[in-house]
Amino acid sequence: MPNRKDRVMNILVLNAGSSSQKSCLYSLEEPLPTASRPLWSAHLDWTVARSGGILTVESNGIKQKIEVQEHDTALTVLLNTLVRGETKVLESLEEIDLVGHRVVHGGAKYSQATLITKEVKKAIAYFIPLAPNHNSAHLEGINAIEEILPEVPQVAVFDTAFHTTLPEAAKVYPLPYDYYEKGIQRYGFHGISHEYCANRAAQILQKPLESLKIVTCHLGNGCSLAAIKDGLCIDTTMGFSPLEGLMMGTRCGSIDPQIPIYLMQEYGLDAQEVSHILNKESGLKGVSGISGDVRAILEAIAQGNERASLAFDIYLHRLKSFIGAMIATLNGLDVLVFTAGVGENSAIVREQTCTGLSYLGLKLNLDKNNTNPTDLNIAAVDSTVKVLVIHTQEDWAIAQQAYAMKNYDRLISS
Ligand code: ADP
Repeated sequence: MPNRKDRVMNILVLNAGSSSQKSCLYSLEEPLPTASRPLWSAHLDWTVARSGGILTVESNGIKQKIEVQEHDTALTVLLNTLVRGETKVLESLEEIDLVGHRVVHGGAKYSQATLITKEVKKAIAYFIPLAPNHNSAHLEGINAIEEILPEVPQVAVFDTAFHTTLPEAAKVYPLPYDYYEKGIQRYGFHGISHEYCANRAAQILQKPLESLKIVTCHLGNGCSLAAIKDGLCIDTTMGFSPLEGLMMGTRCGSIDPQIPIYLMQEYGLDAQEVSHILNKESGLKGVSGISGDVRAILEAIAQGNERASLAFDIYLHRLKSFIGAMIATLNGLDVLVFTAGVGENSAIVREQTCTGLSYLGLKLNLDKNNTNPTDLNIAAVDSTVKVLVIHTQEDWAIAQQAYAMKNYDRLISS
C-alpha cells in the first residue's frame, strides 16, 4: 500500500446523528494550518421536510438544496455532489484518501482516533444501548462507505476519547463496585470539541497547553463542561450518558436519581416514557413550556414570560455551580472557554455566567463580549482569568486526527 504522507490528502468527514448527516471534505498537506475551512460541506436534515430529507451542499461559493426521498441511497446522493454538477470538487470518489467518522460512544477503551476494523465496529455496536441514536447511525454510515468506497480506510474519532484520562474519583460512580466492572462509569462526551477548544485556547494565548488550568463550556443543544489540567481532562459534567450534568435544551441534566424511580412507581410510566421525558421534554423546554432554544427563551423573557425567566435562571444557576465544581477540581482557573451554539452566540449567557465568578478576579470586557467575538479573549485587561470565545470545529478536529493516521498501512501491518 502506498505511503501517502508526502502528498495532499482528501479527507471526508462524516458526522451522523439520529436525524441528520453532516459531512465535509478537507484537502490537507503539511504543514497543517491551525484552522481550515472545508472544500465542500453537506448537511442532510430529515426533520425539515414533511416527507424525505433536505440536503444542503456548499462548495465553490455555491449553496444548493436537493430533496432526498430514500434513506438507503441518501449517502450516495450526498457523495455524488462531490463529483457532479456545480458543487463538484473532485474528479472521482476514488480521490478520497481517508474517511473520518465522529463516533459518540467508544467506551473506556479508545483513547485516540482509531482505524476502523471489524473489532472497532463491534465495539461501536456494543455501545449502541448507551448512545442508541448516534452509535447506530455511525455504524450505518461506516457500512455504507465500506460498500461505496471499499478500498478507503476509515477512522473513528470518539467523543469519549478525551475523557479517558479522568481519574478514578471522577470516573467511578458511588454504586456497588461490580457495576463499575460491568462498564457503568462516567465516560463524558463532547470530547472532540473540548479537546479542540483547549488546544485552540493555548494557541490563541500563545502559552503551552500544559501550563494552563482550563474550563471549557460546550453550550449547544447538549451542554457539558470539561476541567483540563496539564493538557488532560480531569473532570467533566456528562457521565454514563449525555444526560448527566448541566441543564440543556431538552435534557434535564443532573436530578435526584429517585425522581425517575418515583415517576415509574407513582405514575406508572415505563422506562421508555421516562427516558423521553428526561431527554426530550425537560431542560429549557420543559420548564418554560416554550422551546429548548435559548433564542426563543430570551424572546419570551423580553415579552414578560415568567416561566421562560425561571428556565433561564435555572440554566445559569446550574452552569455557575458546575463551573465552580470544575474550578475546585482544578484548584484554580487560568482560562474559561465558551463554545458551541449558545456559548459562541449568547453574550448574555457569557455575561451572567462570568458575573458569578468575579470573586476570582475574573472581569469581562463588555464591549468585546457584545460584538460577536470569535476565537478572541473577551476578558478585561486586568482580569485574573482569560475568557475566550472559540468557534468549535469538530469536523476540522476529526480531519486532523484522521490525517495523523495517514501511515495507516504501517498501522494495519503492526
Ligand atoms: P448542537 O449541540 O446540536 O451541535 P449547536 O452547538 O449548533 O447545537 O447549538 C444550537 C443551539 O445554539 C440552539 O438551540 C440555540 O439555543 C443556540 N443558539 C444559536 N444561536 C444563538 C444565539 N444567537 N443566541 C443564543 N443562542 C443561540
